Order: sequence, then C-alpha cells, then structure tokens
Amino acid sequence: MKKIAILGSTGSIGTQTLEIVRENPDLKVTGLAAGSNAALMEKQIREFGPDTAVMWSEKAAAELKTRISDLKTNVLCGMDGLLELAAMDGYEVLVTAVVGMIGIRPTIAAIESGKTIALANKETLVTAGHLIMPLAKKHGVSILPVDSEHSAIFQSLNGEDPGRISRILLTASGGPFRGKSRQELSSMTVEDALKHPNWSMGKKITVDSSTLVNKALEVMEACWLFGVGLDQIQVVVHPQSIIHSAVEYVDGAVIAQLGLPDMKLPIQYALFYPDRRPMKGEKLDLFDVATLTFERPDTETFRGLSLGLRAAGEGGSMPTVFNAANEKAVALFLNRQIGFLSIAELIEQCMDHHRRVENPDLEQILQAEAETYEYIESIKA
Ligand code: NDP
Ligand code: MG
Repeated sequence: MKKIAILGSTGSIGTQTLEIVRENPDLKVTGLAAGSNAALMEKQIREFGPDTAVMWSEKAAAELKTRISDLKTNVLCGMDGLLELAAMDGYEVLVTAVVGMIGIRPTIAAIESGKTIALANKETLVTAGHLIMPLAKKHGVSILPVDSEHSAIFQSLNGEDPGRISRILLTASGGPFRGKSRQELSSMTVEDALKHPNWSMGKKITVDSSTLVNKALEVMEACWLFGVGLDQIQVVVHPQSIIHSAVEYVDGAVIAQLGLPDMKLPIQYALFYPDRRPMKGEKLDLFDVATLTFERPDTETFRGLSLGLRAAGEGGSMPTVFNAANEKAVALFLNRQIGFLSIAELIEQCMDHHRRVENPDLEQILQAEAETYEYIESIKA
C-alpha cells in the first residue's frame, strides 16, 4: 500500500490524481488540501477517507467542519495547516498540485520530513529551485516530475548517463493563439485564452499556455530538475502535442516519449515510478495522427517566452519577479481588468524595476513576490 497526500486536490491535477487512486486499490490517500471548494472536498473525503484535510480559508475550513461533522477527519486551515499536512507522518508521496508560489513552504516541509515529491507545482521550482534541489539531495528525497514535458524527459533519461545529455528538446503546443500577430492578440478575450487546443487544465496554466509564459516556466523547471544549462534547452513548437519532449545525447541519438495528451499518464508514472501500470483509455494510433510538425517559437510576438528566458538568464530573484508578476497579471486578466498583451507588459515593467538579489533565501523570495505585487498595484493605480 502506497500512501499519498495531495495539495490542490480539487483542481485539474488533483482530481486526475484521485481518478488514478480510484483505479489502483493499492494507493491510499491520507491527506488532502484545497483553497475554498469545501463542497468538492467533502465529496473527496467521503470517498477517499483521508485522516487530514486542509482548506486555505478559515471560512471554507469552518464550512467543511460542519459538512463532515459525522466523520473523524481532522480539518486544518491556512499555511499552518498546509505545513502540518506536508510534515505529518503516515504517507510517502506528496503530490504538489496547488497553483503558484503558495507551494514553496509546504514542499520544503515535506522534503524535510523525508517525503517523495510528485511535482506539478512548477512555480515552486522556478522561484526556489536553488533551495529545493539541494534540500532534496540532503534529505535523500526524490522529486518526480508530473508536468508532461518533464515526465517525458525523465522517461527519456531512463538508464542513461545524465553526463551524456547534449540538449533537451522541450515541446510546446503553441497554445490557442499560435500563428497570430500582435495586432490580433490585442483583442483576445479571457474566453479565447481559455480555449486550449489539446489540453484541459486549470485556468491559470491555460492562460500561461496562451502567452507562452508556461513554456518559459517549464524551461526553468527543466534546468532545475535535470541539472542542465539554459543553453542546453531548445523550445520546439509541436502543435499536435504527441511528442511530449525529447533528449538529444552526445552521439546525436534523440530519445522521446510519445502519447496522446493526457495528464493521467505522467501523474501515474510519478506515483508508481519506476513501475509502469496499465492505464485505461485511448492509446496513440500513429496512423490516426499521420503528421507531426515542428516550428520555431515566435518570441517576438509571444513576449512571455522571451521575458522568461531573460529572467532565467539573469537568475537570482529575477525568476521570482517574472513568476509573481505573471501570477498577478493573469489574475487581473481573468478578472477582465487588463487586456491580453498587458500581461507581458506588466511582467516586463516589474522585471525592469526590480533590483536583483543573488541567491535569495526563502524570506527574500517571499519579499520579492510581495514587492512585485505592490509594484503592480502602484503602477495600475
Ligand atoms: P487548478 O486551478 O485546476 O487547481 C488548483 C488547486 O489548488 C485547487 O485544488 C485549489 O483549490 C488549490 N488551491 C489554490 N489556492 C490554494 C491555497 N492557497 N491553498 C491550498 N490549496 C489551494 O490548477 P491545475 O491543477 O491546473 O494546476 C496545478 C499546478 O500544476 C500548477 O502549478 C500548474 O502549473 C501545474 N500543472 C498543471 C497541469 C494541468 O494539466 N492542469 C499540467 C502541468 C502542470 P480550490 O479548488 O478550492 O480553489
Ligand atoms: Mg507542461
């Protein structure tokens, strides 16, 4: 029996993780955490029977307590609750499926208590990779990628010497606006941005895919996970999302992982690694797909990618500012307070304004995040 806990159980990755639990009776859920959706959390608790549940808001935690007053599940709230859940005994793998930098501290707490991390929450590695990776090494903890591209790279590295990697080919669908001009992008609405051609995901990452900010975050995530330099990663736009990413070795061999776009495969792979389990659902039929195409990313039009690569190159606290500015800008866009192109504009303004800190500690990372939010408020006003 493998025991797991999930941060963000009511979201896209969280609910798909629970589908895998449902199909594999040797998985047991001992902890669940979410933001405010107490109704879905109640259903999940009744089905999966965790010992502990956390809601971010006090109001949602109070609501949940009322809803499950007939059960023994311990209900916690806020950051203290997330930290307690992450550090608690009685489980082995933490699936980090919350959105944004909120995941940093619980991920650290889980590593310090020896848990394996199945990492979907890429914002944690982007902003604090220089703290997380050495900490995981110190505690002998594995960080297993859930992000589909990183899972593909991880699978393509199986049995190989990481010293023989020449390049990582990080594929990108190009999102719903691939091929559009800046003029066309200026009028794109929230509804347009939320129509991803191949993947069904949470709102924030879907918008990040439309701006290509997601690919920039993934480049940084790959640098940390696989110990490669920025110059060893090539972003390849591949609209069919069949090749989930590839590794080129020093002899020129390219090893890739292919499959239909379905997050359940990388989630399941991380949960059972190094085992592979049967999975229900449609399988890849190359005759159906017929054509795989590749393009260079358009970094002039999609400034989210070029700004992210700049942040990655500058390093230190700059990736935090890039990420925090994006988190705030995407929230404003989803609230219809700014237009689509303003997302990248706000990110650039925040990066230009920031005085970079080399090798920031956790407090400095959280401070850079808070200052970025404040700066956006000040320039918006
Ligand atoms: P969703 O928005 O669908 O879900 C987010 C989850 O986090 C929800 O359960 C939400 O709870 C919870 N949550 C939000 N804020 C808090 C908080 N403060 N404390 C505790 N829980 C909180 O996101 P996704 O599942 O799409 O993405 C999750 C992460 O995985 C992101 O980092 C994303 O980049 C990454 N990822 C996602 C992929 C996908 O296919 N969706 C693919 C690859 C990576 P509530 O519902 O109550 O608000
Ligand atoms: Mg991805």
